[in-house]
Amino acid sequence: MYKGDCTFSVTGYKKYRTNYYMSIDLQILGRPGWDNSLFLKVITGNRVYRFAFDAGENCLSTLPFGELKEIDALFLSHHHMDHISGFDSFVRANYSRDKLIPIYGPENSSQICHHRFLGYTWNLVGPGSPGGFMVHDITENSIKRITFKTEDAYREELSISEVPFDEAVYENDDLIIKCKIMDHKIPSLAFLVHEKDKANIDLEEMIKMGLKPGPWCREIKDTQSTPYKKIAIGVQTFTLEELQRRLLKNTPGQSVGYITDFLLDHEAHDSLKTWLKDCTALIAECAYRDNEKALALQHHHMTTTQIGRLASDAQVKELILFHISDRYDKTQKSELLQEVRDIFPGAHFPLNWNIV
Ligand SMILES: [Zn+2]
Ligand SMILES: [Zn+2]
Repeated sequence: MYKGDCTFSVTGYKKYRTNYYMSIDLQILGRPGWDNSLFLKVITGNRVYRFAFDAGENCLSTLPFGELKEIDALFLSHHHMDHISGFDSFVRANYSRDKLIPIYGPENSSQICHHRFLGYTWNLVGPGSPGGFMVHDITENSIKRITFKTEDAYREELSISEVPFDEAVYENDDLIIKCKIMDHKIPSLAFLVHEKDKANIDLEEMIKMGLKPGPWCREIKDTQSTPYKKIAIGVQTFTLEELQRRLLKNTPGQSVGYITDFLLDHEAHDSLKTWLKDCTALIAECAYRDNEKALALQHHHMTTTQIGRLASDAQVKELILFHISDRYDKTQKSELLQEVRDIFPGAHFPLNWNIV
């Protein structure tokens, strides 16, 4: 894994208050029956991370430009047109940042992105022009990182490095993003964003103990110090161990899963139901009804009942369905939703789609 050097409603916005300091906002981009993508914002006490998952047509371009040009990383499930047709908007907003922006995708991502970069005239850039992209080709064996720079007019693959593949592809102090390689007749990546567990101060207990916030609040989160260290707070003195035992509460981080465009057979189901266990929100494609199993199998997609069963077995808290076909009229879309709800009652489309 490469360490992220990152500098992450319902007009489709859904907010998850995760703990005292953090929240996750997610937004499904694009309209029903056409391309969709996911935009995820993780807001900590100190900073905001922005991630995009896929780049369908008219998806990323609907974000305010200020958000789009602050994206920390783009994750591509695969390169079928409906997942990358809006790539230009991402490049346009991000090619001249003060750092290289990471892109993660399955095999050949670097080759496909390189072709897209070369689809522009770059005569106005040159030595000293900032920006570029680090494209990560993820395969069962390795993650290969290839750098392309604006100052080079995207002519060359400038540096190539490779590390063994493990599921964690992106990590910083606050969160970790994992992927699994699934079968869509081509590799297609499933993603899981997991906020790291945090130790927070129990405010009620702090008040009960008659303590006021101060620099000690930071000190007691230091797990490396000796437990016998004395800490003075006002007129009282405690050991570090006592303060940690009485005041620190572990808040588990929340998770968001993103699954689209692959065969959800028994093997995939079993592997994902553990991987996605207790997810706060699962974003899942919903392109085929139960009576279209044969078609779903032929195209290596999932069906309504397979999605419902997975969400139920993984005990996810919320299931948001997207990537539905435009061959269904409004009534059929409601029936499609009902098929999932028969198994997982909490399933819904993005609220701004107005399909219930
Ligand atoms: Zn596809
Ligand atoms: Zn698709």
